[in-house]
Amino acid sequence: MSRKFYVRTFGCQMNEHDSERLAGLLVAEGMEATVDIEDADVVVFNTCCIRENADNKLYGHLGHLKSLRDRRPDLQIAVGGCLAQKDRELIRQKAPHVDVVFGTHNLARAPALLRRAEKEGPVVEVLDAPAPAASADHAPALSAVRALPYAAWVTIQTGCDNSCAFCIVPSVRGPEVSRPIEDLVAEVEGLARRGVVEVTLLGQNVNSYGRDLTKRGPLFAELLRAVGSVEGVRRVRFTSPHPKDLRPETIAAMAEVGAVCEQLHLPLQAGSDRTLVAMRRGYTAQRYLSRLSAARAAIDDLAVTTDIIVGFPGETEEDFAATLEVVAEAEFDSAYTFIFSPRPGTRAAAMEERFVPPEVVADRFERLRRVVERGALRRHEARVGRVEEVLVEGPSRRDQSLLTGRTRQGKLVHFLPVDGGPLAGSFCEVTVTGAAPHHLRGELVRVTAPPAHRRRIPVRAA
Ligand code: SF4
Repeated sequence: MSRKFYVRTFGCQMNEHDSERLAGLLVAEGMEATVDIEDADVVVFNTCCIRENADNKLYGHLGHLKSLRDRRPDLQIAVGGCLAQKDRELIRQKAPHVDVVFGTHNLARAPALLRRAEKEGPVVEVLDAPAPAASADHAPALSAVRALPYAAWVTIQTGCDNSCAFCIVPSVRGPEVSRPIEDLVAEVEGLARRGVVEVTLLGQNVNSYGRDLTKRGPLFAELLRAVGSVEGVRRVRFTSPHPKDLRPETIAAMAEVGAVCEQLHLPLQAGSDRTLVAMRRGYTAQRYLSRLSAARAAIDDLAVTTDIIVGFPGETEEDFAATLEVVAEAEFDSAYTFIFSPRPGTRAAAMEERFVPPEVVADRFERLRRVVERGALRRHEARVGRVEEVLVEGPSRRDQSLLTGRTRQGKLVHFLPVDGGPLAGSFCEVTVTGAAPHHLRGELVRVTAPPAHRRRIPVRAA
């Protein structure tokens, strides 16, 4: 009987995709995935250190696993990802029942480390230098076990060369390493042959993709054109671009390549120039707005989303008012708003004497939410009555009588009918009948293309 593994992911899409790759590697070892941790022979925690209290949460989970390990001494426990990269030996000091610790630069070694730990006992292997572009860690991820058979993430670059004051990523993921363009195109072609119709290109700063590969400068626009012309791929998305590196050629590629979706996630973080300098973001509010206008002018029906941090150390009421002004002017389709929380090891964490009182931050956060939602609702209401192309995801989580899917702009649409309605992975036309700040409602007009993938199950609800 084959051994079973259970992978739990904490963190961002990059980590989710790393877990898919890890699952593919374990399947290649002859193991089988399980969703029941009690049933697993190998448990892997793929960790993140971006969120607050990530370490407390991890050690809490590891504490719970201790009793399972006591009952089942053969159980292997591995911890990988960003927190493992940062904490290394500390993980085994705090949780000695962990068998394997691996970092962000050697995920492909995880199966070999598990084998070694079986024979020799606990292993901690964390590399300081990022894996070179030609290594197994950057190999095409066609064996990844993907959650959705019709949509796939593709990591184009790891690491980050920037130094935003609030961010721990550069110190755990290292400098930027871009995967060769030909590898990425081959990966997307392979995905398309398997029936994947939507790919999302992942990187910490996708706009600088390729800067480390050639002296010609970033190659992101070239990559968009290459991936966008792969037959069978109908939607290309990407995340995240840094506003300072958004170049005219990228905007032109977005406007000209039919498969590249009309969606741009452009993290603003703050609308006050003073705060932007303190954050070390490398642009002013005016520069951000002018790049946004250039993108909107060139790309028809562009949806723009953003990230905003409230309560960065030293943020005054005047700074916050500037953020509100920029948000109102930009009228985002949606925004991920975060309350600042210090990440140990970052510059911002050392600005303790300038931390904004929590009650002030909570009040600002609520005021920001209202401005964001007002803008998003206005943009969504403008879509009522239109017929949108929707890629079906499956039954709505909130209301199983509805189907859910996404438009090219990445907007979530809940629509009728569910019974006898299109299968997940189908493209269909939906008339938008209603709007809310975070989603649209609609009615099915017709199915325009059935699913291209062969594997119909599992399907994830929205
Ligand atoms: S661009 Fe800034 S926020 Fe994004 S990963 Fe790099 S350092 Fe972090």
